This record gives sequence, structure tokens and C-alpha cells, in this order.
Amino acid sequence: MTDHYAVVGHPVAHSLSPDIHAAFARQTGQDIDYVKLPAPLDGFAATVLKFRADGGKGVNVTLPFKHEAWKLAEERAADAEVAGAVNTLVFKDGKISGHNTDGLGLVADLERNLQFALRDKRVLLMGAGGATYGVMQPLLNARPRQVEVANRTLAKAQSLVAHFARFAHLAKDGMTAQSYAALAGTQFDLVINATSAGLQDEMPSLPAGIFAAGGLAYDMVYGKHTPFMKFAQKHGARTADGLGMLVEQAAEAFFIWRGVRPETRPVIEKLRIED
Ligand code: NAP
Repeated sequence: MTDHYAVVGHPVAHSLSPDIHAAFARQTGQDIDYVKLPAPLDGFAATVLKFRADGGKGVNVTLPFKHEAWKLAEERAADAEVAGAVNTLVFKDGKISGHNTDGLGLVADLERNLQFALRDKRVLLMGAGGATYGVMQPLLNARPRQVEVANRTLAKAQSLVAHFARFAHLAKDGMTAQSYAALAGTQFDLVINATSAGLQDEMPSLPAGIFAAGGLAYDMVYGKHTPFMKFAQKHGARTADGLGMLVEQAAEAFFIWRGVRPETRPVIEKLRIED
């Protein structure tokens, strides 16, 4: 019997998740279907509960509903609990459980696909919104030497750092909040763009010398040559977009739902060709 899944968002028409999960299902012989499920801004919970009542087994959740999904979950995995955001819901044994696979997806893409070991690295995270909250704990678990969070609204970066300080192995000065202007003179091995600035064809203002030799610039936005990617190329950094993270976080969700781990590399390669 076919099991039903969906991605819920507003908007959701652009989502690649159905293609990714269809590829995973073919590869692993799992009998599932996976559709796009648009929800009105004031109708997330009702949309999800109807999908469940109709027999759905789980959903992925995208913008702007990840916090609402956290609230809807009756129990939550540790990463999701700390992040305050859920991107994967499971309907099982009469319960709704919530997970956040974004951070594991990012770390898998960096370490496995891009061969970038996070341990002892200096990391700059740009942005202090839902995406940064979602990835922070798995990123810290990979034991970088330093994590600096920069944000246009500094107070939000400060709250985020205070929120995660109690879960971090880093000493007090190993995880800090900064304005972009204060970054002059500092260098990082990895700069992650977790802002939505690229969607408006903008980027936070960064000093030219921000990348250490051999540094990696990672843009969570995928499939686009964003101003941040162009800036990084101009200043000699290696670049990566967020397509790998998207596929890796989907693989984690697929594993949670189906108990089978799909191979991600052929799916990433296929989507790259189609882009
Ligand atoms: P969000 O909660 O709305 O936060 C947006 C962040 O971007 C805030 O920190 C905001 O700063 C900053 N920002 C927006 N415009 C800016 C500008 N012009 N200059 C500087 N900073 C700006 O969004 P989110 O959920 O964190 O998502 C961020 C991005 O990550 C999105 O593009 C999303 O598509 C992407 N994402 C990708 C994946 C993946 O799998 N690849 C997964 C999750 C998210 P202020 O606080 O100052 O407003």
C-alpha cells in the first residue's frame, strides 16, 4: 500500500522536495507518494491535520511554518527542541512528532560531499533567522574552534548566541555575535550565508579579506548565482550553494519516515544537471 507524504509551505510551488523524495523512493524500492501541499498563512495546522486525517504519514515543513510545526508537534527530537523549529513531522501511533533535519543536512553536505571538516575551523554564520536556529546545534556538535554570528539586526544575533551558549562546548569568546561592520580584520575558514538577502539580489556587506586561505563560502540558497557567491569567487574562496543541504536534509527525513538511508550523491548530480 502506498504511504502518503507532502511538503507544506506558503508558497510551495517552487519546491524540489517531491522530485527528491520520488528519486529516493525509486532508489530504495519504497512505495510512497509525495506531493506539494500549499497552506494559507493562517491555516497551517488545519492543513496538516486534514492531511493526517486523510491517511498521511508525515510532512516536511518549509517557510514560513517551521515554528508553527514545532508548536504542533506533541513530542520533539533534541535538535528540533533546541532550534524552536521543525521541518519534519511524523504521524505514528496516534502522535505527532517533530524533527529538524536542516542542521544534519548542512553538516553532511559540508563534511561528506564537500570534504570540509568542521573540527577546529573558524566559522562565520550570517543571519539569525529560522535557518540559523535550525543548523546551529549540529554545527556546534561538529566542534568548530569558533562560531561568529553576524546579523543586520545585532540584537537578534545576540539572543541567538545566548540561546545556544548553554548547549555549546565553546568557551565564552568562542561563540559571539557581531555586526557586519565589526568583522573588518577577521578571517574565517568557512562563511555560511543563512540570510535571505540573496532572494532580493543583495548580500550583507562583508570586508574583502574575510576568507582565510582555502576558505569556503557556503550559500544556503540553492541553484542561484547570488551576490554572495559572486563576491566569494571574486575574493578567491571556494563556493558551494545549498542544493546539497536540501538533498541531505531530505535524506534525513526519508530515513526518519522509512528507516532506509538513500544515496544522496546521484540525486544531487541529477538536480544539478536539470538546473
Ligand atoms: P528568516 O527567518 O526570514 O531570516 C532571514 C535572515 O536574513 C535574518 O537574519 C535577516 O536579518 C537576514 N536578512 C534578510 N535580508 C537581508 C539583507 N538585505 N541584508 C542582510 N541581512 C538580511 O529566514 P530563514 O528561515 O532563516 O531562511 C534564510 C535562508 O536560508 C532562505 O533563503 C532559505 O531559503 C534558506 N534555507 C535553505 C535551506 C536548504 O536546505 N538549502 C534550508 C533552510 C533555509 P534581520 O534579522 O536583520 O532581519
